[in-house]
Amino acid sequence: MIVAGAGLAGLVAAARARELGANPRLLERGSRVGGSMVLSSGVIWRHRRFEDFRRECPGGDEVLQRLIWERLDEALGWLRGLGAPVVWEETGNPLTVGLRFEPRGLTLALLGAAGGAELNVDGCAIAAGEPDVPLVLATGGFAASADLVAQFICPAAPLRLRGNPWSIGAGLVFARERGGAVSEGLDEFYGRAMPDGPWGEAEFVSASALFGRFARIFDEDGVEFMRADEVWWSEANLAQAIAKRPGARAFLLLDPAGLAERVRDVAVAEMVAAAPAEARVAPDALPFAAPPGTVVAVRVVSAITHTVGGIRIDSGARVVDAMGVPVRNLFAAGVDAGGVAAGGYASGLAQALVLGRVAAESACSVAGA
Ligand SMILES: Cc1cc2nc3c(=O)[nH]c(=O)nc-3n(C[C@H](O)[C@H](O)[C@H](O)COP(=O)(O)OP(=O)(O)OC[C@H]3O[C@@H](n4cnc5c(N)ncnc54)[C@H](O)[C@@H]3O)c2cc1C
Repeated sequence: MIVAGAGLAGLVAAARARELGANPRLLERGSRVGGSMVLSSGVIWRHRRFEDFRRECPGGDEVLQRLIWERLDEALGWLRGLGAPVVWEETGNPLTVGLRFEPRGLTLALLGAAGGAELNVDGCAIAAGEPDVPLVLATGGFAASADLVAQFICPAAPLRLRGNPWSIGAGLVFARERGGAVSEGLDEFYGRAMPDGPWGEAEFVSASALFGRFARIFDEDGVEFMRADEVWWSEANLAQAIAKRPGARAFLLLDPAGLAERVRDVAVAEMVAAAPAEARVAPDALPFAAPPGTVVAVRVVSAITHTVGGIRIDSGARVVDAMGVPVRNLFAAGVDAGGVAAGGYASGLAQALVLGRVAAESACSVAGA
């Protein structure tokens, strides 16, 4: 078996395959393992009630949603059993349940169970020459491909990348060449509003402008295009809405009440103060008349963390064609497997964990694994 991509889905698939007696080759295109997972907050969660998952992600594939929802708790127990370090026993969100892991420790525990990975190797290129070997695509979607993002998601303005730099759609391209179909949600993404200033991987979490729910939201032309009460708790729809505005930019305007709000244990005022100086704008320096009461504005850009649509799979994580027929020897997991959270937002780590395990189980049942 070949596993392309050593982020969460690929590490899990390789570890599970080894547990089942296979000898997978885990290939990673980047110079490190862990993908976006190692950059993440490490909260692996599901909605508390399945009905909430359906309601919040109405365009998603119900069969895959149920699979992830039903198998997550068992998979979290498995991760714990591998020695992955849990730092919180809950998610900090009353709507969801799950665990928060320390991402580096999680990566190392899985890497050990997977038997290591080969770095700087394009797994899809290697697999192209081995059509008889089962292949699990776990390349993390196409957020890092400016061309594919422009083609499917945001033709007008470039989105900044807030995720792993090597996820350029290799899995999607490979699956389509083999006859795989695409899922729903190809024009959607999970992302964040981020300050319009310098930030890098180390600030992906801490610099997130997660206070759209407490702000007034204007674009550069002074159009108030979204109300605070329309912003989801995850704020993922704010990033999507900003992507459609001129320059994929917006201003989040805060009054004293907004600044006094808290996001988990951090005050909005602290988040604003931590934004790069070039992103903080005084009310009289805005390119439009600020509403009365505005104390400060933060200029934000839409940043993409990962794609939502991708390769179509069945409940065995088998890549399927447009008729729903499995493509021989081909499986997909994690962000590569599209359409789970279409229309909304759900845990990408949960999708990677459950589908990584399912893909390995299906691939191991194929002769030659
Ligand atoms: C800042 C941040 C915070 C986040 N916080 C959370 C959170 O708290 N909870 C949550 O659920 N989700 C969170 N996420 C999202 C989560 O990290 C992703 O959903 C998850 O990592 C997806 O797993 P994956 O294995 O599909 O992709 P990834 O983990 O990104 O791994 C894909 C891997 O494939 C490799 N690859 C690409 N192309 C090839 C190729 N051709 N050959 C071989 N390898 C290849 C990539 O380099 C990468 O290592 C966060 C993400 C970020 C960036």
